Amino acid sequence: MTDQLKKYLFEDRSVRVQAVRLTDTWKAVRANHEYPPAITHLLGELVAASTLLAANIKFDGSLVLQIQGDGPIALLVVECRSDLSLRATVKMREGHDVPVDGNMQSLLNPGGNGRFIVVLDPQRKAPGQQAYQGIVPLEGDTVAEALQHYMKASEQLDTQLWLAADDEHAAGLLIQRLPVHGGEQAPLLSEQAAAETWERAGTLAATLKRDELLQVEIDTLIHRLYWEETLVAFDPLPVSWHCPCTRERVANMLRSLGEAEVQDIVAEHGQVDVTCDFCGKPYRFDAVDCAALFTPATPAADSESPTVH
Ligand SMILES: [Zn+2]
Repeated sequence: MTDQLKKYLFEDRSVRVQAVRLTDTWKAVRANHEYPPAITHLLGELVAASTLLAANIKFDGSLVLQIQGDGPIALLVVECRSDLSLRATVKMREGHDVPVDGNMQSLLNPGGNGRFIVVLDPQRKAPGQQAYQGIVPLEGDTVAEALQHYMKASEQLDTQLWLAADDEHAAGLLIQRLPVHGGEQAPLLSEQAAAETWERAGTLAATLKRDELLQVEIDTLIHRLYWEETLVAFDPLPVSWHCPCTRERVANMLRSLGEAEVQDIVAEHGQVDVTCDFCGKPYRFDAVDCAALFTPATPAADSESPTVH
């Protein structure tokens, strides 16, 4: 059984409902990282959120959710591609104790400098096109509240989220209010009727308990919440863990550090060792590899070819 994300629409097409419950994907994320439970749970909530948002991006590329903190956690980051393959990692700040009852504010925002960042990065960019990046202060007590704050601040569709994670599962429910005019969105639906549907969708979703979200299979969960409503169900989308790191990407990262910096490391250590933050895969660049990085005559692909030792 693979992990799945399921999408539904209210019959009047004014509200979208999405649910995800990850088991294997979440296990794969955790296999590469060992963190205290409070941190694992925050990461799991961000992982679930990333799939719910990535399921609606209209281009081939990736959605990155980042929380930058000024406390024990320096960075939580999840990258989810439009095919719903994802990877995630945490950067801790040295010398900070992690309180057992730590929450998002105490772990990431004790100094009030926490930031919630969303990056939309199309794989094929037009010349000069940059990835889109939105940044807002970290507000709210939970990942869901921080994300809702972001959606509101960036004037996106009205969205409500419920997120939860434990050692076994990372799960989430999203409801989103769709525009009622134009396109295929039920042009005859009145604003009044659409507002009532949105109200009902939210009231019913708010009865959801954390344990239900974690334990109950998606179809059962949606039926429990919305059994009095008629929902249109779409084909489930598979979700998986995948780290797209390659030697070439690491080479590009080293190029962006600059030749002087890289040569300093070579002078000190005899080589450059880089470990992927997401999957732990090691990459080694010896002195010859490093010199080749900054030699214009040798194209980037050279770092894939064998080198003489
Ligand atoms: Zn990797």
